[in-house]
Amino acid sequence: MHLIDTHCHLDFADFDDDRAAVLAASRALGVARYIVPAVGEENWAALEGLAAQETGIFYALGVHPMWASRQTSGVLTRLASRLAARPSALVAIGECGLDGRSTVSQAGQLELFEGQLELAHQFQLPLLVHSVRANDTVATLLKRYRPAAGGVIHAFSGSRHQAERFWALGFRLGIGGTITYERASKTREAVAAMPWEALVLETDAPDMPLAGRQGMRNSPEYLPEVLACLAKLKGEAPSKVAELLRDSSEALFSRLLR
Ligand SMILES: [Zn+2]
Repeated sequence: MHLIDTHCHLDFADFDDDRAAVLAASRALGVARYIVPAVGEENWAALEGLAAQETGIFYALGVHPMWASRQTSGVLTRLASRLAARPSALVAIGECGLDGRSTVSQAGQLELFEGQLELAHQFQLPLLVHSVRANDTVATLLKRYRPAAGGVIHAFSGSRHQAERFWALGFRLGIGGTITYERASKTREAVAAMPWEALVLETDAPDMPLAGRQGMRNSPEYLPEVLACLAKLKGEAPSKVAELLRDSSEALFSRLLR
């Protein structure tokens, strides 16, 4: 099995004590490649360092909506110059997006998200999109900017209609812990109805623990459990699902193949 965790924050302090052990355990379970998204300029250098140190680690650079107010002026210009250098392990822009639940100014979030939508177009890179209580606004913006390299609606939660709308705009759905909760019936139904090529796997570790592990640190070690849950939901063998989602991830993040 060769799994790709398309969204895990391995650089977070939560992993400082046992990062190597977490990676070794995940690799032993078949998680071969990892995409680590940025949250703001403050962790860009750490991601570059992590990817240089470890095989199979790729990263995205960008600004997360909840970190928007902590950024200093000129951040998008500095992001553009890092993207222009085209480092080989950089596969996407993000994470970026909108969080309707956050106390961070919505106008500030929007300004940075729109800036990153423009950069995605300019550099032809996929986007890792954080969309919390904002699916309709995010879809409207994607329609307006039409970032040609597409991206992922990370930790997708929403209706079948929203899922289809994102996929029609070239955005895949990031499938993680959410589908392991029985109560997430709307999202589970939406995911079950989508084609394989519209889906990618992710954990969002250390956040978004799976059902049964609420309050605990999430880890890429649990990605095979997300896979098993998805396989059951869609009535397909886990080994086949692993293959289909590897294809889907490589089709989107073409730089994974370099
Ligand atoms: Zn994230």
